[in-house]
Amino acid sequence: MKYVLVTGGVVSGLGKGVTASSIGVLLKACGLRVTSIKIDPYLNTDAGTMSPFEHGEVFVLDDGGEVDLDLGNYERFLDTTLTRDNNITTGKIYQSVINKERKGDYLGKTVQVVPHITDAIQEWIERVAMVPVDGKEGPADVCVIELGGTIGDIESMPFVEALGQFSYRVGPGNFLLIHVSLVPVLNVVGEQKTKPTQHSVRGLRGLGLTPNILACRSTKALDENVKGKLAQFCHVPAENIVTLYDVPNIWHIPLLLKDQMAHEAILKGLDLLGVAREPDLEEWTARTKIFDVLQAPVRIAMVGKYTGLSDAYLSVLKALLHASVACRRKLIVDWVAAGDLEDATAKEAPDAHKAAWDLLKGADGVLVPGGFGDRGVQGKILAAKYARENKVPYLGICLGMQIAVIEFARSVLNLHDANSTEFDPDTKTPCVIFMPEGSKTHMGGTMRLGSRRTYFKVVDCKSAKLYGNVSFVDERHRHRYEVNPDMVSQLEKAGLSFVGKDETGQRMEIIELPTHPYFVGAQFHPEFKSRPGKPSALFLGLIAAACGNLETVLQNNGHVGKPLSNGHLTTKTYQNGNIFKSSNGLVDGVYSNGNGNGNGVHW
Ligand code: GLN
Repeated sequence: MKYVLVTGGVVSGLGKGVTASSIGVLLKACGLRVTSIKIDPYLNTDAGTMSPFEHGEVFVLDDGGEVDLDLGNYERFLDTTLTRDNNITTGKIYQSVINKERKGDYLGKTVQVVPHITDAIQEWIERVAMVPVDGKEGPADVCVIELGGTIGDIESMPFVEALGQFSYRVGPGNFLLIHVSLVPVLNVVGEQKTKPTQHSVRGLRGLGLTPNILACRSTKALDENVKGKLAQFCHVPAENIVTLYDVPNIWHIPLLLKDQMAHEAILKGLDLLGVAREPDLEEWTARTKIFDVLQAPVRIAMVGKYTGLSDAYLSVLKALLHASVACRRKLIVDWVAAGDLEDATAKEAPDAHKAAWDLLKGADGVLVPGGFGDRGVQGKILAAKYARENKVPYLGICLGMQIAVIEFARSVLNLHDANSTEFDPDTKTPCVIFMPEGSKTHMGGTMRLGSRRTYFKVVDCKSAKLYGNVSFVDERHRHRYEVNPDMVSQLEKAGLSFVGKDETGQRMEIIELPTHPYFVGAQFHPEFKSRPGKPSALFLGLIAAACGNLETVLQNNGHVGKPLSNGHLTTKTYQNGNIFKSSNGLVDGVYSNGNGNGNGVHW
């Protein structure tokens, strides 16, 4: 097993995750099998309890692991299926060491950060690196390890120490360190400044780690003399210094690394030059080029809790993007704060109310993503009603499906107090109820999490066709509430079709309105399994319906027919009548949660 460690210096939010995933793509293109590990030095054992509005979305894995969103980048870029153990946190390491201590495994010794925590980290890495994640047998060839945060952070110290020991133990030729750093350009003189990188490399060396490759974020390619200076002061050969300059979309990063021959430097450092082939990125390049030139827009209104920071819905955005590129459309996401659609806002903030409705009415399709809690629920119900009545394509994910069912019960069945017990525990018409997988009385550990099977009960429906006329699908879940099975026949008689259910027939998984061009809801989260080049079926359905191409896709068993036209992604953020091009004002397709926790910019 060969290891590539990716660290970050100078500032957080440099796009370390995307860089590490892109290195994986490049190595995979060289014929190598690649796995990945993300280290998050925070104390939480997993991301399940962390607010998506602070930290970005909680990404869900097949095994039910609730992990950092960077694992989503790895799965999407490398087309792998990771496990919860591929995300290491300080909490997980300490928990495992403390459990062993309680069992008496340390035989009376004093349990310390060095060697016990550092050993536990190394053992974890070696164990998880051997687990295949690409569906093939046997371990991968290379494991890319991303160390979250910035070199010098107090909380990452035990990991840095452990990785220093690890690199010494596995030896040169088996371990390679890529340090992602920043080369700022000072506006006044326009000069690329190397000092911050020099300092961060010095910090790295002081902690016992030696970089083999420097990957420098800068606005433009580094001047040769700047590279020379970095080589001299950082003791890294100039041919091992690559620039990660600003690009129109993140799919360029593997290409940019290839153009700068990063694969040669990596393969040389890992003694793999004779083993690997020249990188084949033909398909990747073609898709990236298509993305760049897309012109004809498809407008999707995302009706959720307004955040201003799109990382909270990162996988949903990526799934929309994959589907849009497949349909050859430039994705425009109009963020609509659900609360602004509500009647109360009409009085309190009429401009915001009007702007929100204008965006909704201007959209080609409406998406209500997953969520927890009752804020903005009424607004989401209004959005679902608008889409249903006006035959605008609608996709409701998890909460978005529950919302659609509540709206249908209220408007079509005239059950005006129909509600979810999540929002009104005493509702007389519980249309969505608490249906945990474990205990019915305790909230902890009751979430229905990870991959579960949905069986198609109706063969002739849009969803089954979009999935390629299969009889079942496995998708990822993260919820506690579900449609009340006692109300299903009533809803069905009124025209709502429950086309997908679990193996017991008690859990409603997919709804459709057969009389509507595309009105679909899923209790699961299809966004987590969407990939570039392999868009998620239900997202493809939404985008295809929004561009008037659904019939062709349905006839082709879930595949797009002929391309429609060309363009690329922009996102637009809406808040109180202000329009922002993207959440952080950077280039298109750049998302930032800007919270300085090391999970910032995802190009
Ligand atoms: N809050 C809802 C539930 O727990 C929906 C969850 C979600 O959208 N992920 O069932």
